[in-house]
Amino acid sequence: MNMSCCPRLAGAGRSRRHFLASAAKVGLLAGWSMVEAGPAFAAQGPQTAPMPKLQPFDLADVELSESPFLHAQRMTEKYILSLDADRLLHNFRVNAGLKPKAPVYGGWESEQTWADINCHGHTLGHYLSACALAYRSTKDRRFKQRIDYIAAELDACQKAAGTGLICAFPDGPALFAAYLKGEKISGVPWYTLHKVYAGLRDSALLADSTTARTVLLRLADWAVVATRPLSDAQFEAMLAIEHGGMNEIFADLYVMAGNADYRTLAERFSHKAILEPLAHGRDYLDGLHANTQIPKVIGFSRVYEVGGDPMYGDAAAFFWRTVAHTRSFATGGHGDGEHFFPMADFAKHVFSAKGSETCCQYNMLKLTRSLFLRDPNAGYADYYERTLYNGILASQDPDSGMATYFQGARPGYMKLYHTPVNSFWCCTGTGMENHVKYRESIYFHDDRALYVNLFIPSSVAWRDKGAVLTQTTAFPEAASTSLHWKLVKPAELTLKLRHPRWSQSAVVLVNGAEVARSADPSSYVEISRTWRDGDRVELLLAMEIETVSAPAAPDIVAFTYGPLVLAGAFGKEGLAPGADIIVNERLYGTYNNTPFTPPTLAGEPQEIVRRIRAGNKPLEFILQTQAQQPIRMIPYYRIAHERYATYWQLVSA
Ligand SMILES: [Zn+2]
Repeated sequence: MNMSCCPRLAGAGRSRRHFLASAAKVGLLAGWSMVEAGPAFAAQGPQTAPMPKLQPFDLADVELSESPFLHAQRMTEKYILSLDADRLLHNFRVNAGLKPKAPVYGGWESEQTWADINCHGHTLGHYLSACALAYRSTKDRRFKQRIDYIAAELDACQKAAGTGLICAFPDGPALFAAYLKGEKISGVPWYTLHKVYAGLRDSALLADSTTARTVLLRLADWAVVATRPLSDAQFEAMLAIEHGGMNEIFADLYVMAGNADYRTLAERFSHKAILEPLAHGRDYLDGLHANTQIPKVIGFSRVYEVGGDPMYGDAAAFFWRTVAHTRSFATGGHGDGEHFFPMADFAKHVFSAKGSETCCQYNMLKLTRSLFLRDPNAGYADYYERTLYNGILASQDPDSGMATYFQGARPGYMKLYHTPVNSFWCCTGTGMENHVKYRESIYFHDDRALYVNLFIPSSVAWRDKGAVLTQTTAFPEAASTSLHWKLVKPAELTLKLRHPRWSQSAVVLVNGAEVARSADPSSYVEISRTWRDGDRVELLLAMEIETVSAPAAPDIVAFTYGPLVLAGAFGKEGLAPGADIIVNERLYGTYNNTPFTPPTLAGEPQEIVRRIRAGNKPLEFILQTQAQQPIRMIPYYRIAHERYATYWQLVSA
């Protein structure tokens, strides 16, 4: 979300080709299938609906052990608990005619700088989602108390307002009234409201909040009534403005409540100007605002799951392929200044300070997970891992817990993070969710097989099978992982271990003896047997340094080691302590803007790789250069408070 680079939010009547808007938030519900959707789906869903092949594990059944992921989770928990619900509720109460209980927060929540985008209140929705995820993961009652308090407050606001609509826009419900009439407006009302819907949904499903569910259904019914007068053409015109994941929310609501009106709205909220070309395999994403599109596509995937036309599923799968395979940087991020660019112009965009908006990675992971559940292909998990390390884990300041907006590749620039209470960007909101849901995508299962997708120290309880699988690993510092079964009784099960794309080989040992060997990267190694309590499994992989480049610019490369992008680490010169905690995301590129000349690399990529040696610490490497100081290289996710480079322009030797 950023107004600085394009006037895409200006009005519903504006050129749709440029402002093709957005929607959704899928599969975040790791507990979804268990909590509610399973039975409701069976009872209410159409018989033809494509059931997912895999099930996620409930977040409550996965435990994290010590690792950078658990550290990141704890930092976000601390941040969430430091925020004041009454401050987040300020404008909701004002709009309902109630006296606010605490002053409003800064940044996007109230400051004039961002008045044009009308995102007031989006943070409360993300906050509810984050509290619900944190509560499901940790069982810490403090998160549940926050949810219950906010849900009760929103219930009071809804009753006082009397229409079902709850919002925090400075002009109150007048903004929606004008928008629904097709008048020119400023801002992204559905985008903002989508976060509130999603927060209430997550509170209902993951934290069992009956009040949140009641408020959610009233808010849903308000939308049913408010949009009913719109013709299909008027509805589609409304979707020219970024609208978050409204189609996904209404598909979820259909599953939760079985109300056919919700399914109708899920389809009406599906932007046909984006859906139709994608369904026909046409990539015309160049120039479009990236984070407007991804949530819509998450919604397409969800609409398909609740019985929508197969074109919805086709569109989602095609979009993923084109973004993940052809439009992504080595880190898994994409875009420049929030927009997709023609890949023929890669060299013009890769070194931007405004590349890789973090929300886009958050949303791409949601889409990836949604597709993987229907089509358990290791390629999805490979992308997930790459983006998780180099996009999501990399986005958090490990010291303050604050998160990035952009993660650009301008050589010698640094990561910039939001302030605790004066920024409240979109990426602050998704950043609250990112680090409290690492448990959702490590393991999956079907009736007989357990999938191990990520190599993160953790354990999973598969209750139906009386089994607990514990994973112990130093990955990525070591290219292996160990798994240990705890079983009530012997169990005939299949273990599907991901053989990642970055490893030429995968060897599996059971109780010390080799049982399988794979030379097929980006696949699963299957071990089917009768497992006994105490059985141990080891997966041995091979990490090596490689280069990544885009077809249009073979002389601009990134270096990777396994799934990790290696960054040149250039120290803190000219960077005052704390100067990377910033208020205004629009000014990326101007903060800490002292000149910096990156070292040049001369030679062919393979020859440069041969000059990289292991350093003194795990995952530290030293690149010898001909004329300059050696370059210290470390995983990009470990870069914080210092200048870095992730892409390098090679010159002739
Ligand atoms: Zn963002």
